[in-house]
Amino acid sequence: MKILVINAGSSSLKYQLIDMPSGQALAKGNCERIGIGGSITHKLQDGRVYKEDCNFPTHTEAFQKLMDVLSTGEYAVIQDVSEIAAVGHRVVQGAEYFNQSVLVTEDVVKTIESISDLAPLHNPAHVLAIRACMKVMSSFTPQVVVFDTAFHQTMPKKAYMFGVPYEYYKKYNIRRYGFHGTSHRYVTARLAKLIGKPIESLKIVSCHLGNGSSITAVNGGKSIDTSMGFTPLDGLLMGTRSGSVDPSVVTYIMEKENLTPAQMSDLLNKQSGYLGISGVTSDDRDLRKAAIEGNERAALAGSMQRYQVKKFVGAYAAAMGGIDALIFTGGIGENSVDLRREVCANMDFLGIDIDEEKNIECNGIEANISADGARVQTWIVPTNEEYLIAEDTMKIVNSL
Ligand code: ADP
Repeated sequence: MKILVINAGSSSLKYQLIDMPSGQALAKGNCERIGIGGSITHKLQDGRVYKEDCNFPTHTEAFQKLMDVLSTGEYAVIQDVSEIAAVGHRVVQGAEYFNQSVLVTEDVVKTIESISDLAPLHNPAHVLAIRACMKVMSSFTPQVVVFDTAFHQTMPKKAYMFGVPYEYYKKYNIRRYGFHGTSHRYVTARLAKLIGKPIESLKIVSCHLGNGSSITAVNGGKSIDTSMGFTPLDGLLMGTRSGSVDPSVVTYIMEKENLTPAQMSDLLNKQSGYLGISGVTSDDRDLRKAAIEGNERAALAGSMQRYQVKKFVGAYAAAMGGIDALIFTGGIGENSVDLRREVCANMDFLGIDIDEEKNIECNGIEANISADGARVQTWIVPTNEEYLIAEDTMKIVNSL
């Protein structure tokens, strides 16, 4: 069964055509510059890459081009669009309406649209992509939506409420939603399989560290707390995002610098984090290079994030009454030997102890990097959100 996985932004349409249940990605790529021009980059399994400049006034033209590239010409991977059994869309915000993936209906689209205020950069784009897909593909092709927030809907109220007047929860739905749910769900389920224990019996701390980073406490397969909050700005220091700060810092800077809410939001989302602290880069690899070359602020940014990760691991072990396994995933979690070393240093009081040789040798691959005899299993588990979206889509379609 071939499933098309779509991750749409306001000017882009990332895709993967996945063969299920094998999970093999037959093709992947991105339609970019929608609304301001257009281009498609289409990559095949054998490494061949096709690029074309196009004209994409809207997501519909981009979707049409995608169908053409997938099914015609030298870079085609299917003979006919009808081979695509279903489409799975990543949706950032499902709020309290969705605690699992669902089949797309008109009501579902309207609900996603109705919570656009909570994810103004994402939900409207997802809706555009769903509607483009309805226009271009046969109306018989089922579509499924998979939410970043759904996995975290199991959090207890004490974990998801903020200490602002309760009326704002009622009036504006202000609460912690958490994000990266598809990744945390994938890596924790995968880990349980890898160590051969039922997920219901495990207390896991899952660290997804990339440009955007979040940590989740997963107790018995359920998210019970997570570091991202109302938006993906909360929690850890990230590439360009500040993570948690004293809320007074926000009002103080706004007053001193005479900033509007939009300018302050830009400062916190795009000018902070690694970039804001180091002044040179938002990228972990470049940050490390700069630190080695003697840039003290680059070294500070890296050590701030690692310290924060360590604190979350400790906090979530306390929240769950213990920890059986620790997962590193995401671009940094999977590929930074230093980060894993520093986070896991002096954590044997919790049972966390990694083997430095394994940490180095297994960099970037799925592996147990725990020291012999460590009470906690520490693993690198490369994430695969697209696979989980395809799997949810397949399950829902097969149940129709
Ligand atoms: P996003 O949150 O955009 O999905 P990623 O998970 O791709 O981000 O992570 C990107 C971060 O991972 C960057 O800071 C990058 O420097 C870091 N990184 C380190 N090593 C690698 C690597 N080998 N491949 C990809 N990213 C890496």
